[in-house]
Amino acid sequence: MALAAPPVVADHPTFEVTAPVRAAAERAGAHAVCAECFGRLFGRLGHGLTNPERATRLGYRPPPPGAACAVCEGAFDRIDVWVDRTLRAGDGYEWHRFTCGSRWEPEVLAREEALWTEVGTEWGESVRSAFNRELGKRVEARTGAAGGTERPDLVFLADVAVGRVETTVLPLYVRGRYRKLDRTLPQTRWPCRRCRGRGCDSCGGTGKTYPESVEELVGAPLLRATGGEGTRFHGMGREDIDARMLGRGRPFVLEVVRPHRRTIDLVAVAAELAASAAGRVEVLDLAFAEAPDVVRVKEAAPEKSYRVGVVGNVPVAKVNEALDLALARAIAQRTPARVAHRRADRVRTRRIVAAHLVDVAEGRFTLDLRTEAGTYVKEWVEGDGGRTEPSLSGLLGVPLRVDFLDVTEIHDSEGA
Ligand SMILES: [Zn+2]
Ligand SMILES: [Zn+2]
Repeated sequence: MALAAPPVVADHPTFEVTAPVRAAAERAGAHAVCAECFGRLFGRLGHGLTNPERATRLGYRPPPPGAACAVCEGAFDRIDVWVDRTLRAGDGYEWHRFTCGSRWEPEVLAREEALWTEVGTEWGESVRSAFNRELGKRVEARTGAAGGTERPDLVFLADVAVGRVETTVLPLYVRGRYRKLDRTLPQTRWPCRRCRGRGCDSCGGTGKTYPESVEELVGAPLLRATGGEGTRFHGMGREDIDARMLGRGRPFVLEVVRPHRRTIDLVAVAAELAASAAGRVEVLDLAFAEAPDVVRVKEAAPEKSYRVGVVGNVPVAKVNEALDLALARAIAQRTPARVAHRRADRVRTRRIVAAHLVDVAEGRFTLDLRTEAGTYVKEWVEGDGGRTEPSLSGLLGVPLRVDFLDVTEIHDSEGA
């Protein structure tokens, strides 16, 4: 005889009320707590249940009217107020992903731990994690935004004792490569040394040593598009102000601080940039980026190619001979005198990877070089008063002066 199929039971999430659970629930019944805080004492029992549902399953009876919950003091009953506060705190910002956190008075957390001990539960969940989750679920439902800790646009912190939600707006990241055609332009904002950026007579009240920078030229259309409150510029190294940056350009990540809009048209930004910075800066491969791209750009140490114009009276044959010698051995390069005031004074070992004489004229010549990251090319040519050893000037035995310097390629993994 065939066995009858077992009856179909509705798939209702529940959990088994064992004797220890029942005993703990009875002890919990002696405390005036809200359904959320009661159920949360058993929060790790069963899946797919809310804490009030757990409370109901365990015979929870609410405290008399007017009695505030002994754990959360009513924070969960007022959670819709917290949702409103959260939405107000995010007002004026575009956000698609968010994280909820909360700050509780230590006494609340201590009361909760004491209750766990008195009730004898081993299934409790903390008030903080439950509140964060419940607030997040409701904010998701009201806005359609995604809660979680992955790449949030906004982080909300509910200060439960104070009754206020604080907002942290995460930056918007944009990456690209810049070519710099202007020999008067620094890469980043350069605060006036006299006033340190506050504005004084010597900087004409601008607070800056140079009126503009690559950062500001690239940042301006992004600030307009995003309504952001500032920028931070991260370049894969930097060239001297009077050096051009040619070839496929230098990788950078620009951080827009506290953006109000995130859905922006980068094609339009690139077009605006092309018009406003024409002849000074060109940006290639503009794209949205993420925080880890900043680290990638800052930590990369690619080789670089340069074209350098040198003033000095030397026969071609001697230059070629010196370049052969230069390629054959490492350079010991002490921190250049011109940057020693802001960098640690130490000796670095670097190599010239390739060197070619490309042009010779009366009293001057032009070189193409490829060097390891961090090589100070101007100092290698001129000698920097003996701080770079050997230098091209030292190898030739004549004084040399760099007339111009261009970076012709950054050999990072995305470049040539
Ligand atoms: Zn409560
Ligand atoms: Zn100043």
